[in-house]
Amino acid sequence: MIFRAKGIPLHINELLVGIITRNPEKQGEQLIFIGDAAPYGDYLAILSCAPASYTGLPTVFNISSLDHLADGDIVSIGPDGIVRTVYRTNSFYNTILATERCNSNCLMCSQPPKDKNDIPYLFELYRRVIPLIPKDCVELTVSGGEPTLMGERFFELLELITRELPDTEVHVLTNGRSFAWDHLAERLARIDNPRLMLGIPVYADYYQVHDHIVQARGAFDQTILGLHNLARHGIRLEIRVVLHQQSIPRLTRLARYIFKNLPFAEHVTFMGLEYTGYTPHNIEQLWIDPYDYNNELTEAVEFLAGQGMHVSIYNAQLCVMPERLWPYARKSISDWKNDYLPACESCSKLDDCGGLFTWNLKKCSAYIQPLSA
Ligand code: SF4
Repeated sequence: MIFRAKGIPLHINELLVGIITRNPEKQGEQLIFIGDAAPYGDYLAILSCAPASYTGLPTVFNISSLDHLADGDIVSIGPDGIVRTVYRTNSFYNTILATERCNSNCLMCSQPPKDKNDIPYLFELYRRVIPLIPKDCVELTVSGGEPTLMGERFFELLELITRELPDTEVHVLTNGRSFAWDHLAERLARIDNPRLMLGIPVYADYYQVHDHIVQARGAFDQTILGLHNLARHGIRLEIRVVLHQQSIPRLTRLARYIFKNLPFAEHVTFMGLEYTGYTPHNIEQLWIDPYDYNNELTEAVEFLAGQGMHVSIYNAQLCVMPERLWPYARKSISDWKNDYLPACESCSKLDDCGGLFTWNLKKCSAYIQPLSA
Protein backbone atom coordinates (compact mmCIF):
# COMPACT_ATOMS: atom_id res chain seq x y z
CA MET A 1 0.00 0.00 0.00
CA ILE A 2 1.39 3.38 -1.02
CA PHE A 3 0.80 6.36 1.27
CA ARG A 4 3.28 8.81 -0.23
CA ALA A 5 4.05 10.22 -3.65
CA LYS A 6 6.45 12.92 -4.72
CA GLY A 7 6.63 15.32 -7.64
CA ILE A 8 7.80 18.78 -8.58
CA PRO A 9 5.83 21.47 -6.73
CA LEU A 10 4.81 24.78 -8.24
CA HIS A 11 3.18 27.63 -6.31
CA ILE A 12 2.90 25.55 -3.12
CA ASN A 13 4.11 27.66 -0.23
CA GLU A 14 2.27 26.05 2.66
CA LEU A 15 0.68 22.77 3.70
CA LEU A 16 -2.44 22.05 1.64
CA VAL A 17 -5.11 19.56 2.71
CA GLY A 18 -7.92 18.52 0.40
CA ILE A 19 -10.09 15.81 -1.12
CA ILE A 20 -9.11 13.95 -4.29
CA THR A 21 -11.31 14.07 -7.39
CA ARG A 22 -10.80 13.07 -10.99
CA ASN A 23 -14.19 14.39 -12.02
CA PRO A 24 -13.78 17.70 -13.91
CA GLU A 25 -17.44 18.47 -13.30
CA LYS A 26 -16.85 18.63 -9.55
CA GLN A 27 -15.32 21.87 -8.36
CA GLY A 28 -14.61 23.36 -4.96
CA GLU A 29 -11.90 24.95 -2.94
CA GLN A 30 -11.51 21.76 -0.85
CA LEU A 31 -10.92 19.59 -3.94
CA ILE A 32 -7.60 18.47 -5.39
CA PHE A 33 -7.93 17.53 -9.03
CA ILE A 34 -5.94 14.63 -10.50
CA GLY A 35 -5.35 14.81 -14.23
CA ASP A 36 -2.71 15.38 -16.86
CA ALA A 37 -4.81 17.96 -18.69
CA ALA A 38 -5.85 20.13 -15.78
CA PRO A 39 -9.07 22.03 -16.28
CA TYR A 40 -9.19 25.64 -15.24
CA GLY A 41 -11.50 25.73 -12.31
CA ASP A 42 -11.97 26.22 -8.65
CA TYR A 43 -9.58 23.70 -7.08
CA LEU A 44 -7.29 23.78 -4.09
CA ALA A 45 -4.50 22.18 -6.15
CA ILE A 46 -3.70 19.96 -9.11
CA LEU A 47 -1.78 16.66 -9.06
CA SER A 48 -0.34 15.47 -12.33
CA CYS A 49 1.95 12.77 -13.69
CA ALA A 50 2.73 14.99 -16.69
CA PRO A 51 5.71 17.35 -17.02
CA ALA A 52 5.27 20.88 -15.74
CA SER A 53 2.86 23.17 -17.56
CA TYR A 54 0.87 26.23 -16.56
CA THR A 55 -2.31 25.50 -14.59
CA GLY A 56 -2.71 28.78 -12.73
CA LEU A 57 -3.12 26.76 -9.50
CA PRO A 58 -0.82 25.17 -6.93
CA THR A 59 0.34 22.04 -8.71
CA VAL A 60 2.57 19.01 -8.22
CA PHE A 61 3.88 17.70 -11.56
CA ASN A 62 5.89 14.69 -12.62
CA ILE A 63 4.44 12.32 -10.04
CA SER A 64 5.35 8.77 -11.08
CA SER A 65 1.91 7.36 -10.26
CA LEU A 66 -1.30 8.44 -8.57
CA ASP A 67 -3.09 5.12 -9.02
CA HIS A 68 -3.09 4.54 -5.26
CA LEU A 69 -5.45 7.48 -4.72
CA ALA A 70 -9.22 7.05 -4.97
CA ASP A 71 -11.74 9.83 -5.41
CA GLY A 72 -12.72 10.94 -1.90
CA ASP A 73 -9.32 10.20 -0.33
CA ILE A 74 -7.87 13.06 1.70
CA VAL A 75 -4.26 14.08 1.10
CA SER A 76 -1.81 16.65 2.35
CA ILE A 77 0.60 18.38 -0.02
CA GLY A 78 3.75 20.01 1.29
CA PRO A 79 5.93 22.71 -0.29
CA ASP A 80 8.45 19.88 -0.87
CA GLY A 81 6.06 18.26 -3.39
CA ILE A 82 5.28 15.27 -1.14
CA VAL A 83 1.69 14.07 -1.33
CA ARG A 84 0.67 12.05 1.73
CA THR A 85 -2.53 10.05 2.01
CA VAL A 86 -4.09 10.89 5.35
CA TYR A 87 -7.56 9.32 4.91
CA ARG A 88 -8.62 6.50 2.59
CA THR A 89 -12.30 6.65 1.83
CA ASN A 90 -12.59 2.96 0.88
CA SER A 91 -10.93 1.65 4.02
CA PHE A 92 -12.26 0.83 7.48
CA TYR A 93 -8.75 1.26 8.88
CA ASN A 94 -8.03 4.96 9.10
CA THR A 95 -5.73 6.24 11.80
CA ILE A 96 -5.00 9.68 13.15
CA LEU A 97 -1.36 9.76 14.18
CA ALA A 98 -1.34 12.07 17.19
CA THR A 99 2.42 12.06 17.79
CA GLU A 100 5.37 9.72 17.46
CA ARG A 101 6.53 10.67 20.95
CA CYS A 102 5.91 8.27 23.82
CA ASN A 103 6.55 8.11 27.56
CA SER A 104 7.02 4.32 27.40
CA ASN A 105 9.46 2.34 25.29
CA CYS A 106 7.91 -1.14 24.96
CA LEU A 107 10.18 -4.05 24.06
CA MET A 108 7.88 -4.98 21.17
CA CYS A 109 6.83 -1.47 20.06
CA SER A 110 5.79 -1.69 16.41
CA GLN A 111 6.34 2.02 15.89
CA PRO A 112 9.32 3.07 18.02
CA PRO A 113 9.02 6.54 19.50
CA LYS A 114 10.84 9.45 17.93
CA ASP A 115 12.05 12.31 20.06
CA LYS A 116 10.96 15.19 17.90
CA ASN A 117 8.22 17.69 18.53
CA ASP A 118 5.78 16.70 15.82
CA ILE A 119 2.71 17.70 17.84
CA PRO A 120 2.08 21.22 16.47
CA TYR A 121 2.38 19.95 12.86
CA LEU A 122 0.20 16.86 13.35
CA PHE A 123 -2.42 18.79 15.32
CA GLU A 124 -2.68 21.41 12.60
CA LEU A 125 -2.82 18.69 9.92
CA TYR A 126 -5.68 16.78 11.55
CA ARG A 127 -7.48 19.94 12.58
CA ARG A 128 -7.87 20.45 8.85
CA VAL A 129 -8.41 16.78 7.90
CA ILE A 130 -11.17 15.90 10.35
CA PRO A 131 -13.85 18.28 8.93
CA LEU A 132 -13.23 16.76 5.47
CA ILE A 133 -13.80 13.14 6.55
CA PRO A 134 -17.13 11.74 5.31
CA LYS A 135 -19.81 11.94 7.97
CA ASP A 136 -20.58 8.24 7.49
CA CYS A 137 -17.05 7.19 8.45
CA VAL A 138 -17.59 4.06 10.56
CA GLU A 139 -14.48 4.05 12.69
CA LEU A 140 -11.38 6.14 13.35
CA THR A 141 -8.37 5.15 15.42
CA VAL A 142 -6.30 7.75 17.25
CA SER A 143 -2.84 6.36 17.80
CA GLY A 144 0.79 7.23 18.45
CA GLY A 145 3.25 7.26 20.08
CA GLU A 146 1.27 8.24 23.09
CA PRO A 147 -1.63 10.50 22.07
CA THR A 148 -2.08 12.06 25.51
CA LEU A 149 1.35 13.67 25.18
CA MET A 150 -0.45 16.20 22.98
CA GLY A 151 -1.71 17.70 26.23
CA GLU A 152 -4.73 19.95 25.83
CA ARG A 153 -4.57 19.44 22.06
CA PHE A 154 -5.45 15.76 22.61
CA PHE A 155 -8.77 16.79 24.09
CA GLU A 156 -9.32 19.48 21.45
CA LEU A 157 -8.77 16.86 18.74
CA LEU A 158 -11.32 14.54 20.32
CA GLU A 159 -13.77 17.42 20.70
CA LEU A 160 -13.38 18.19 17.01
CA ILE A 161 -13.96 14.53 16.06
CA THR A 162 -17.00 14.42 18.34
CA ARG A 163 -18.44 17.55 16.75
CA GLU A 164 -17.68 16.70 13.12
CA LEU A 165 -18.21 12.94 13.23
CA PRO A 166 -20.85 12.21 15.86
CA ASP A 167 -21.69 8.78 14.36
CA THR A 168 -18.11 7.53 14.10
CA GLU A 169 -16.68 4.98 16.54
CA VAL A 170 -13.48 6.48 17.95
CA HIS A 171 -10.82 4.12 19.24
CA VAL A 172 -7.93 5.77 21.08
CA LEU A 173 -4.82 3.65 21.64
CA THR A 174 -3.04 4.97 24.74
CA ASN A 175 -0.90 3.49 27.50
CA GLY A 176 -3.32 5.12 29.93
CA ARG A 177 -0.58 6.43 32.22
CA SER A 178 -1.62 10.07 31.91
CA PHE A 179 -5.01 9.26 33.40
CA ALA A 180 -3.41 8.49 36.73
CA TRP A 181 -4.06 12.24 37.08
CA ASP A 182 -7.77 12.27 37.70
CA HIS A 183 -8.38 15.73 36.25
CA LEU A 184 -7.34 14.38 32.83
CA ALA A 185 -9.83 11.51 33.06
CA GLU A 186 -12.43 14.03 34.12
CA ARG A 187 -11.47 16.29 31.18
CA LEU A 188 -11.93 13.36 28.78
CA ALA A 189 -15.33 12.54 30.26
CA ARG A 190 -16.48 16.11 29.64
CA ILE A 191 -16.17 15.50 25.90
CA ASP A 192 -19.13 13.22 26.40
CA ASN A 193 -18.73 11.02 23.33
CA PRO A 194 -20.53 7.70 23.83
CA ARG A 195 -18.70 6.28 20.79
CA LEU A 196 -15.30 6.87 22.32
CA MET A 197 -13.33 3.89 23.63
CA LEU A 198 -9.79 3.75 24.99
CA GLY A 199 -7.61 0.72 24.26
CA ILE A 200 -5.05 0.38 27.06
CA PRO A 201 -2.39 -2.33 27.42
CA VAL A 202 -1.91 -4.33 30.59
CA TYR A 203 0.80 -6.92 30.11
CA ALA A 204 0.96 -8.59 33.51
CA ASP A 205 -0.72 -8.79 36.88
CA TYR A 206 2.61 -7.94 38.52
CA TYR A 207 4.17 -4.49 38.31
CA GLN A 208 7.75 -5.58 37.68
CA VAL A 209 6.82 -7.65 34.64
CA HIS A 210 4.61 -4.94 33.13
CA ASP A 211 7.20 -2.23 33.83
CA HIS A 212 9.93 -4.33 32.24
CA ILE A 213 7.86 -4.93 29.10
CA VAL A 214 7.06 -1.23 28.70
CA GLN A 215 10.56 -0.21 29.89
CA ALA A 216 9.20 2.40 32.27
CA ARG A 217 9.35 2.31 36.05
CA GLY A 218 6.03 3.02 37.70
CA ALA A 219 4.06 2.46 34.50
CA PHE A 220 1.95 -0.39 35.93
CA ASP A 221 0.76 1.66 38.89
CA GLN A 222 -0.04 4.64 36.68
CA THR A 223 -1.90 2.53 34.12
CA ILE A 224 -4.01 0.73 36.72
CA LEU A 225 -4.79 3.99 38.52
CA GLY A 226 -5.58 5.56 35.15
CA LEU A 227 -7.95 2.73 34.26
CA HIS A 228 -9.81 3.17 37.54
CA ASN A 229 -10.04 6.94 37.12
CA LEU A 230 -11.35 6.53 33.59
CA ALA A 231 -13.88 3.90 34.66
CA ARG A 232 -15.12 6.12 37.46
CA HIS A 233 -15.78 8.85 34.90
CA GLY A 234 -17.68 6.45 32.67
CA ILE A 235 -15.11 6.14 29.87
CA ARG A 236 -15.43 2.94 27.83
CA LEU A 237 -12.33 0.77 28.10
CA GLU A 238 -10.61 -2.05 26.30
CA ILE A 239 -7.68 -3.99 27.78
CA ARG A 240 -5.01 -5.05 25.27
CA VAL A 241 -2.56 -7.86 26.00
CA VAL A 242 0.31 -8.65 23.60
CA LEU A 243 1.36 -12.31 23.64
CA HIS A 244 5.08 -13.06 23.85
CA GLN A 245 7.73 -14.73 25.98
CA GLN A 246 7.51 -12.04 28.69
CA SER A 247 3.72 -12.00 29.06
CA ILE A 248 2.84 -15.67 28.60
CA PRO A 249 4.14 -17.05 31.94
CA ARG A 250 1.64 -14.91 33.92
CA LEU A 251 -1.14 -14.85 31.31
CA THR A 252 -3.65 -16.92 33.24
CA ARG A 253 -2.98 -14.93 36.40
CA LEU A 254 -3.42 -11.74 34.37
CA ALA A 255 -6.83 -12.96 33.19
CA ARG A 256 -7.90 -13.44 36.80
CA TYR A 257 -6.46 -10.04 37.73
CA ILE A 258 -8.46 -8.37 34.95
CA PHE A 259 -11.70 -10.00 36.06
CA LYS A 260 -11.13 -9.14 39.68
CA ASN A 261 -9.67 -5.63 39.35
CA LEU A 262 -10.78 -4.32 35.97
CA PRO A 263 -14.25 -5.86 35.55
CA PHE A 264 -15.53 -2.63 33.97
CA ALA A 265 -13.50 -3.32 30.79
CA GLU A 266 -15.86 -3.69 27.86
CA HIS A 267 -13.45 -5.75 25.81
CA VAL A 268 -10.27 -7.74 26.40
CA THR A 269 -8.06 -8.47 23.40
CA PHE A 270 -5.17 -10.92 23.25
CA MET A 271 -2.87 -9.93 20.40
CA GLY A 272 -0.16 -11.80 18.50
CA LEU A 273 3.28 -10.24 18.28
CA GLU A 274 4.14 -7.95 15.34
CA TYR A 275 7.54 -8.59 13.80
CA THR A 276 8.42 -4.99 13.17
CA GLY A 277 9.74 -1.93 15.04
CA TYR A 278 11.68 -3.02 18.11
CA THR A 279 10.58 -6.67 17.98
CA PRO A 280 13.26 -7.98 15.59
CA HIS A 281 15.91 -6.36 17.85
CA ASN A 282 14.46 -7.96 20.99
CA ILE A 283 13.36 -11.19 19.41
CA GLU A 284 15.42 -13.41 21.75
CA GLN A 285 13.42 -12.26 24.77
CA LEU A 286 10.09 -12.03 22.94
CA TRP A 287 9.61 -14.92 20.57
CA ILE A 288 7.52 -17.88 21.46
CA ASP A 289 5.76 -19.87 18.76
CA PRO A 290 2.04 -19.11 19.14
CA TYR A 291 1.35 -22.85 19.00
CA ASP A 292 3.35 -23.23 22.20
CA TYR A 293 1.13 -20.86 24.20
CA ASN A 294 -2.18 -22.40 23.19
CA ASN A 295 -2.76 -23.84 26.68
CA GLU A 296 -2.22 -20.51 28.44
CA LEU A 297 -4.25 -18.58 25.86
CA THR A 298 -7.14 -21.05 26.00
CA GLU A 299 -7.28 -20.89 29.78
CA ALA A 300 -7.13 -17.07 29.85
CA VAL A 301 -9.72 -16.59 27.11
CA GLU A 302 -12.16 -19.17 28.42
CA PHE A 303 -11.85 -17.91 31.99
CA LEU A 304 -12.73 -14.33 31.02
CA ALA A 305 -15.44 -15.38 28.57
CA GLY A 306 -16.85 -17.68 31.25
CA GLN A 307 -17.14 -14.68 33.55
CA GLY A 308 -19.18 -12.89 30.91
CA MET A 309 -16.43 -10.63 29.59
CA HIS A 310 -16.16 -9.84 25.88
CA VAL A 311 -12.91 -11.40 24.65
CA SER A 312 -11.13 -11.35 21.28
CA ILE A 313 -7.95 -12.74 19.80
CA TYR A 314 -6.18 -10.53 17.26
CA ASN A 315 -3.30 -11.17 14.85
CA ALA A 316 -3.63 -14.95 15.04
CA GLN A 317 -4.01 -17.77 12.53
CA LEU A 318 -6.82 -20.29 12.81
CA CYS A 319 -4.65 -23.29 11.90
CA VAL A 320 -2.30 -22.58 14.81
CA MET A 321 -4.95 -22.41 17.55
CA PRO A 322 -7.37 -25.05 18.84
CA GLU A 323 -10.80 -24.99 17.22
CA ARG A 324 -12.44 -24.00 20.51
CA LEU A 325 -10.68 -20.61 20.25
CA TRP A 326 -11.91 -19.88 16.72
CA PRO A 327 -15.07 -18.05 17.90
CA TYR A 328 -12.81 -15.47 19.57
CA ALA A 329 -10.46 -14.93 16.62
CA ARG A 330 -11.08 -11.71 14.67
CA LYS A 331 -9.87 -10.48 11.31
CA SER A 332 -8.19 -7.53 12.95
CA ILE A 333 -5.22 -6.64 10.77
CA SER A 334 -5.61 -3.43 8.75
CA ASP A 335 -6.01 -4.10 5.03
CA TRP A 336 -2.78 -2.40 4.03
CA LYS A 337 -0.63 -4.60 6.27
CA ASN A 338 -2.53 -7.90 6.01
CA ASP A 339 -1.03 -10.85 4.14
CA TYR A 340 -1.08 -14.63 3.77
CA LEU A 341 1.52 -17.29 3.07
CA PRO A 342 1.51 -19.08 -0.32
CA ALA A 343 0.31 -22.19 1.55
CA CYS A 344 -2.84 -20.32 2.61
CA GLU A 345 -4.17 -20.35 -0.97
CA SER A 346 -5.32 -23.95 -0.61
CA CYS A 347 -6.76 -23.47 2.90
CA SER A 348 -10.48 -24.04 3.39
CA LYS A 349 -10.57 -21.33 6.07
CA LEU A 350 -8.83 -18.64 4.04
CA ASP A 351 -11.91 -16.39 4.06
CA ASP A 352 -12.36 -16.68 7.83
CA CYS A 353 -8.73 -16.43 8.88
CA GLY A 354 -7.21 -13.07 9.78
CA GLY A 355 -3.86 -14.11 8.28
CA LEU A 356 -0.65 -12.33 9.19
CA PHE A 357 0.95 -8.92 9.25
CA THR A 358 2.97 -8.49 6.07
CA TRP A 359 6.12 -8.21 8.20
CA ASN A 360 5.26 -11.44 10.04
CA LEU A 361 5.61 -13.51 6.87
CA LYS A 362 9.29 -13.90 7.77
CA LYS A 363 8.66 -14.70 11.43
CA CYS A 364 5.59 -16.82 12.02
CA SER A 365 4.48 -20.05 13.64
CA ALA A 366 6.08 -23.24 12.39
CA TYR A 367 2.64 -24.85 12.67
CA ILE A 368 0.85 -22.88 9.93
CA GLN A 369 -0.62 -25.33 7.48
CA PRO A 370 -3.67 -25.24 5.21
CA LEU A 371 -6.85 -26.61 6.72
CA SER A 372 -8.99 -29.03 4.76
CA ALA A 373 -12.76 -28.68 4.55
S1 SF4 B 1 -3.25 -21.85 6.42
FE1 SF4 B 1 -3.26 -19.64 6.24
S2 SF4 B 1 -5.41 -19.08 5.84
FE2 SF4 B 1 -5.38 -21.18 6.63
S3 SF4 B 1 -5.74 -20.96 8.80
FE3 SF4 B 1 -3.51 -21.06 8.48
S4 SF4 B 1 -2.84 -18.94 8.30
FE4 SF4 B 1 -5.06 -18.97 8.04
